[in-house]
Amino acid sequence: MHKNKTVVIGIDGATFDIIYPLLQERKLPNIASILVNGVSTSLRSVVPPITASAWTSFITGVNPGSHGIFDFISGIHLNGMDGKLLSSVDVMAKTVCDYLSEGQKKVLTVGIPFTYPASEVNGVMVSLSMGCDIDVYPKDLMKPLTENTGYDKEQCKPVDTFGEVPKEEVLDEVIKRANYLTEKVRDISCYLLKNHEWDFFMAHFMSTDTIQHYFWNFMDTKHPAYDERLADKYRNTIHESYRKVDSAIGQILRQSGEGCNVIIASDHGFAPIYKFFYVNKWLQDKGFLHVRNDEKKMYRFKLAFPTIYKIFKKLGLESVGRILPRWLRSISIPAIKRCPAPFYEWIDWERTKAYASPFGININLKGREPEGIVTEHDYKNIRQLIKNDLSKLKDSASGTELIKEVLFKEEVYNGPYIDKASDLFFTFKEPYFLQASDVMKATCFEELSRENFATANHRYSPDGIFMMNGPHIKSDKNLHNLNIVDIAPTILYLSGLRIPRTMEGRVITESIGDDYLLSNPVEFIEGDSKGKAAVASAAVECDESDIKEHLRRLGYLG
Ligand SMILES: [Zn+2]
Repeated sequence: MHKNKTVVIGIDGATFDIIYPLLQERKLPNIASILVNGVSTSLRSVVPPITASAWTSFITGVNPGSHGIFDFISGIHLNGMDGKLLSSVDVMAKTVCDYLSEGQKKVLTVGIPFTYPASEVNGVMVSLSMGCDIDVYPKDLMKPLTENTGYDKEQCKPVDTFGEVPKEEVLDEVIKRANYLTEKVRDISCYLLKNHEWDFFMAHFMSTDTIQHYFWNFMDTKHPAYDERLADKYRNTIHESYRKVDSAIGQILRQSGEGCNVIIASDHGFAPIYKFFYVNKWLQDKGFLHVRNDEKKMYRFKLAFPTIYKIFKKLGLESVGRILPRWLRSISIPAIKRCPAPFYEWIDWERTKAYASPFGININLKGREPEGIVTEHDYKNIRQLIKNDLSKLKDSASGTELIKEVLFKEEVYNGPYIDKASDLFFTFKEPYFLQASDVMKATCFEELSRENFATANHRYSPDGIFMMNGPHIKSDKNLHNLNIVDIAPTILYLSGLRIPRTMEGRVITESIGDDYLLSNPVEFIEGDSKGKAAVASAAVECDESDIKEHLRRLGYLG
């Protein structure tokens, strides 16, 4: 019996919408055994539900206003210019790993988002960057770990050949790399569990999120980007990714042994995108945003090196391009290319009062935005005007009302970092719309087509999954109203530690057995919740531009 040992498995973007039908077909035996013998419910994510801020809330037990991570990149208020890629050194609150280490508990973690570069823990932290660079604390474990598991970054980093090769090859590569990462997270997990002492173990699987972004349109016959030609090949790709993660979970749980408390959870749900809503175009139509008059200046001529295949494709000769030998179609030749100027150069900032951020709307505030014009005095008034207009938003084609709620940032967040957040957020009634910040569109709405790579998203799907079982956990109980910030205090409680009062979540006591709860009442401690800057034991040496491009394609950057 492993008293007070806890295993946490994070499945990125996992949703019961996919899991329940697979359970009925008996295709997820390991997840099923946790679900059937324990407690489960949906898990409400942060607003907006994105991987960066959600997992950070998961491991800190506080909202983004208290931990400071609102996005993958900094600089939400830079008038649309890119900020820098964020990492663990930007997390401003303590994590469960910090608290467990202070409580002399042995910690093992594998690939938890926003733990790169790895920090000092009482145990082992294996962290992976967005570009799949690996970092390990303690440093001297890097060599035996990579030798024993054969981890190779090149085989799992985000695909960077979009538009350069036929789509099918790209999709095959996405699957290959996502599955490779699943296998390596499994192998690293089993290696650590076998060779190190532990009280708390957590691993994170990314493949489900990546694959749902790219493959939803092959299983959803109602999707405007439904691809009949490739549906036979890719219809089950999402299901397969869940099955592979389920199998990896089985191996991890066998290695961790009997008698542990096990939590399986995701950071948000997932849903198809049928239509884009271009927020900046809408702000322009409503008079809050103005575009520069001289359209000619808004384009650049750049030296580019398109491949022969890409040139054939542009000439409408894709079928000819496809039969060329691979070595020939991948040859690049120099060409002059007309490119649109960056978004921020399109906008007439001297007349613009509001603009879209990747996840909400920003007021062009004087003294905060580089080219801000709105005074503090007018700030609330303009926000209210936008809220009023947005609340009445209708689909131009169907006339249906679209908006579920419009929220000001202080209604969503609290804490010292709230000023970093966007000013206004909104959610749709139907989770089929993605805000995008393109100002060069003729209309505010556009249906997706097969040219769009990401055909599903989680921006309006805040409900992830939660399930838990173990020696102290009730069985067969349905839970309600769980929030992502409840997980960290629950982990500390199950580990026998007191809960810092600064944690905003609660221990999920209704899931704990009565006897255990009576003999182990929830206790609190005061204390400082500020996260120590993570030990930068690895230089953050990833190619930022590649990762930003990857995020942009998935709709994370404007
Ligand atoms: Zn995610």
